Amino acid sequence: MDLSQQHLIEIKKELQSCALKCGFQDLRISDIQTKGYFERFTQWVKEGKHGNMSFLERNQNLRQFPNELHPDTCRILTVRLNYLPPNAKFNTPLSDPAKANVSRYALGKDYHKLFRKRLNHLISCAQEKINNLGTLKFRVFVDSAPVLETAFAEKSGVGWKGKHTLIINENAGSWFFLGEIFINLPLPIDAPVEAKCGNCNACISLCPTDAIIEDKQVDARKCISYLTIENKGEIPVELRDKIGNRIYGCDDCQLACPWNRFSQVSQSNDFLPKHRLDNIDLIELWSWNEQEFLKNFEGSPIRRIGFQSWLRNLAVAIGNSNLGISVIEHLEQKKTLANSLVNEHIDWAINKIQKNPKSDRSDLKLNSKTKKLINCVETMLPRDA
Ligand code: SF4
Ligand code: SF4
Repeated sequence: MDLSQQHLIEIKKELQSCALKCGFQDLRISDIQTKGYFERFTQWVKEGKHGNMSFLERNQNLRQFPNELHPDTCRILTVRLNYLPPNAKFNTPLSDPAKANVSRYALGKDYHKLFRKRLNHLISCAQEKINNLGTLKFRVFVDSAPVLETAFAEKSGVGWKGKHTLIINENAGSWFFLGEIFINLPLPIDAPVEAKCGNCNACISLCPTDAIIEDKQVDARKCISYLTIENKGEIPVELRDKIGNRIYGCDDCQLACPWNRFSQVSQSNDFLPKHRLDNIDLIELWSWNEQEFLKNFEGSPIRRIGFQSWLRNLAVAIGNSNLGISVIEHLEQKKTLANSLVNEHIDWAINKIQKNPKSDRSDLKLNSKTKKLINCVETMLPRDA
């Protein structure tokens, strides 16, 4: 394709304008080089810090060379989509162990499908307005292929990689999804931004399981997001107390981050909480059978973990709640529906409650990290975009 520099600049502007019209908050462009990023990633995998996510061990050549994943790619467009629901209840599940604590990205609809749809729409919107793009080759990715997503977001200046490994934008915090378009046009690239974590260590010190082992290094095997979502096996006994009431993912490192004072809420109804998931009792969720789980989570990312992992997570959270001895009967009732792995977690929960059978809602016994986090959160309510 023979395009002048001026034409490429105009195409980039058109893509950025279409991105905003399609409901994204940013679109930035990088080249496809992965040097440095790829080596750090493979070292992390080599050290086993990815846990059982064996898909991260495969297709390394595609990860290293994006043009092998999609031939002729020479640029990667990274787009940002805010997901924080308005009126997100930050403190409720932190301060009440009897409530379910669900990662905010999972409160509403599964973002993968709608994100991909919007990315395709973005390309057709731009194509309509840009002539002579007959040989345009592109492919969209949303968490679906071996792509070093945060590397391209960092390279193109969508934000910098925080010590917790998520991308932070100084005007938008970190509550957003990322998606990519691989493209064969040599569009002008954007510059990275300065990293602004400075001396802050809030995410490291407030992580409930000390999973952030050093600057930009999370040991997935200790991370609650991994343990409650990707992990299909047992939750290590030594980490169960620390998981508290987090039944699907964990937001604590984002909640601790001072840059989220600048986060923007989503304008999309798709991410509004379903089934009162932002303020619901653990015991109500525990009462669901498998059919209810599948029906209630239709279109939700939570459905992907399956009923057994759902029960496993809930059992640990109920064991950590202050609900007292009366919940033992409820825990026992589910044993016939649970597999042996989940039953071991139920027994753990029952055992823990039996050791401290008294329900006392006035003495919540929040650990010191949670108390500090609650204070952080109170100073950081997001603004409307
Ligand atoms: S998601 Fe939670 S457990 Fe994982 S690193 Fe962040 S704070 Fe720690
Ligand atoms: S909490 Fe502090 S150290 Fe962690 S990502 Fe945010 S600014 Fe960086």
